[in-house]
Amino acid sequence: MTRQFGDLGAGPYKSLVIRNAMVIPGHGGPPAGPYDIMIEGNMITQMVPFDPVAAERRGAGSRMTGDRIIEAEGKYVMPGMIDLHTHIRTLPEEIEYVYYLKLAMGVTTMVNAADRGYANGMEEAKKSAANEIIAPRMFPLVSYGAGTSFKGRQLDDPAMASQVVKAMAANGNRVISMDPLGWSLDLVAAIAKAAKENGMITSFHLQPSNTAVTQAVKAACAGVTMIEHHYGYAESALDNKTQDFPRTYNYGNENDRFREAGKVWTYTNKERLLNEVADTLVKCGVTMLPTRVVYEANRDVIRATSLPWTDKYTHQALWNWNLPNPAYHGSFHYDWTSDDEYYWTTAFRLWGDLIYEFNKRGGRVAFGTDDNYIWATPGFSSVRELQLQRETGMHGLEVIKTATLNSAQTLGEPQLGLVRPGYKADLLIVDGNPAANLKYLYSFGDLALDKDGKMIRTKGIVHTIKDGVVLNNARLMEEVEKMVQASRKLAPAVDVMRDPFRVGKP
Ligand SMILES: [Zn+2]
Repeated sequence: MTRQFGDLGAGPYKSLVIRNAMVIPGHGGPPAGPYDIMIEGNMITQMVPFDPVAAERRGAGSRMTGDRIIEAEGKYVMPGMIDLHTHIRTLPEEIEYVYYLKLAMGVTTMVNAADRGYANGMEEAKKSAANEIIAPRMFPLVSYGAGTSFKGRQLDDPAMASQVVKAMAANGNRVISMDPLGWSLDLVAAIAKAAKENGMITSFHLQPSNTAVTQAVKAACAGVTMIEHHYGYAESALDNKTQDFPRTYNYGNENDRFREAGKVWTYTNKERLLNEVADTLVKCGVTMLPTRVVYEANRDVIRATSLPWTDKYTHQALWNWNLPNPAYHGSFHYDWTSDDEYYWTTAFRLWGDLIYEFNKRGGRVAFGTDDNYIWATPGFSSVRELQLQRETGMHGLEVIKTATLNSAQTLGEPQLGLVRPGYKADLLIVDGNPAANLKYLYSFGDLALDKDGKMIRTKGIVHTIKDGVVLNNARLMEEVEKMVQASRKLAPAVDVMRDPFRVGKP
């Protein structure tokens, strides 16, 4: 039953005990403990408060034991994080590069775009579910109609939605991507309804080309499960139904598209956005999936390209895709001015206020990164995303909740998102309290003082446990480093971002 993945990980175990761990439950409540946690197979079965005095009195034999014991004194256990929007990209970036980084920095479940094709997405999800590979649980994000025989005009017809969605559900799909469908609100509403009837959810990247018809409020009240990214909110509070596109705007030009997506936040009606719009979004029951980290480069592209981990851990293929180039998606920083960075700084501030108001008024904020795009290195982005949510004013424990219980509920997974008997063993064993410092979740930890006042660097997430499989996160990071160093042979002769800062002649 216990599978061995070399020295990268092993499990699930007949019985696995985590001893003496503080627990962050995942529902927004504070840390409690310490506990001894019993995991049988892939399930948490018991949590016993550990009282060292009582334990000594009872004798060593009274303590829970198992096939494997992890001593976790001083460590914090929290639920594995659920990234509801991410990418695995394509070769030459190894798929393991993404899996290992995601796991090492705390993501045990992900809704990943099926970047390598529908069949591959479904196949990988199956392998992960069977624990045949080291990877997070996967619920591929698939376009409406994918994997079915419906096509063309059938997919434009709201009356067909219930048949199409039924066929998708029968193929084992969970998450429908609505991205290009905003041109017809009837269609959006019909798919959202059919999805609910079939136990599926809908995820919507509201394209600026269609927000004249479907902005965030319209999408939310049409029954969409979650709205990804920032699109459609500022547009919901404009006086005009169409945003103020400049005369030369072309939606197909990514530079135009991203510039105006930031700028719209500077002239939207702020008052209406933070009140009427926030209230209606809550009332209509939509989940917000901000993925702020993937847009952070827009407010300071030099910072985004010079983060300390890029040399060691950012795959060359990812770097090459990001290099400003009008021909690639998400590589639009070829004419990115300080005005653009101003628009995006303003956008981040107001968008953050909206997230805060939405959460405060009872709306559900979930967690996603959209990483592996726009200078967002996977894994590192998960932690940064939490920090960017904290920046909105939400409490650190609420921020953790977005990635645990809130995302589990959004996805419709009742056994994920909490540390509790009866829940699946998707857990993180963290060196330090992440509710106090989210940066403890980085693989390189953070500086802190030990109890003698000596400066130390914490060790990040020591073990990620996915479905009862215990991973050695430091080893996963070594494998990532090897892949990245091997990928340097793909470095271009001219690197417009790095060349000015190279030491010596390139
Ligand atoms: Zn995406």
